[in-house]
Amino acid sequence: MITDLDGAVLYANEGASKITGFPNKEIIGKKAGAKELWGGLMDEKFYAQMWDTIKNKKQTFSGEINNQRKNGEKYVALSTISPVLDEDDELIYFVGIERDITTEKAVDRAKSEFVSLASHQLRTPLSSINWYTEMLLDDKKNLKKEQKEFLNEIVAGSKRMVTLVNDLLNVSRLELGHMMIKPKKIDMVQAIQESINQHKFLLEKKKGQVKFKDRPKELMINLDPILFNQVIGNLLSNAIKYSPPDRCKIEIKIEKINRFYEVTVSDKGMGIPKANQAKIFSKLYRADNARKSMAEGSGLGLYIIKTIMEESGGKISFKSEQNKGTTFYLRFPLKGMKEVKGDKGFSE
Ligand code: ADP
Repeated sequence: MITDLDGAVLYANEGASKITGFPNKEIIGKKAGAKELWGGLMDEKFYAQMWDTIKNKKQTFSGEINNQRKNGEKYVALSTISPVLDEDDELIYFVGIERDITTEKAVDRAKSEFVSLASHQLRTPLSSINWYTEMLLDDKKNLKKEQKEFLNEIVAGSKRMVTLVNDLLNVSRLELGHMMIKPKKIDMVQAIQESINQHKFLLEKKKGQVKFKDRPKELMINLDPILFNQVIGNLLSNAIKYSPPDRCKIEIKIEKINRFYEVTVSDKGMGIPKANQAKIFSKLYRADNARKSMAEGSGLGLYIIKTIMEESGGKISFKSEQNKGTTFYLRFPLKGMKEVKGDKGFSE
């Protein structure tokens, strides 16, 4: 579709009619995406941002838009709108390309619903395995040494499985938009310290250290305590896991930078190879060096915490050099995490 600078349609191809149901003659001359055509379902902020990008910044805008066909049916469009400029960088018109991704979205949703249901169902039998194995282990008198060892292996294995099943459940809840974020005023410093304490056992095993540098006495800020613990805990346990014992030295820092509080977690561990860095936040992705040195790991942790950070109005990024170390940066708005309504909490 091509429009003039006010968005009135100058040209639309056959695909436009196929997707929207409006014949070409009803589209030409009208404002693309107006209420009387297929638009108007997004909030005002969305359209304002779109116009700002294409008209003021003269950049390409890309995003998912909820639209409506002529027969009233809703559909989801993946739209890319680009400004076309003349030799003097003045706007001439806009070119919009729209793809109907309704079916893809529905399939994706069905898949997430299946994973959510399946992982929820898997938790009950896993709890029984855990309970009964621990009950057997309580029988100190009648168990032989070898039997005890085997039972301990079962407990460790089923605990790993619970973690994995919970991760899958959380991923599907986040993707379905069911996860609630319920921030309340808590002390970020204390919350980080608690997370460090929770990793004492792992740290001792690695003879590692965590330095919580330049910590303020207290920093009261709106955080969802469970989700914040998940984010910090994941970064901390990765930092410990992916550091060799002689270099297991981790630093945590909080700084106020412009409109953010930035929490950094840095290690001197194996680092993330350059070739793997672009995909490190993707679901189930693990870097080559991590896979080789540590068979265990699901590649879900970073994906989960990136989603949590972004849903709550924050950001996560990292810098890493192989064999030197990795630093993760978390940015929280000064007001803290944004509240998100949902019907499910986080499964730990
Ligand atoms: P997991 O640790 O279960 O594999 P994550 O999603 O937490 O999954 O991490 C994904 C991948 O990112 C890891 O497999 C590893 O390759 C890399 N990674 C994450 N944190 C670090 C770190 N601190 N140092 C080196 N590599 C890391």
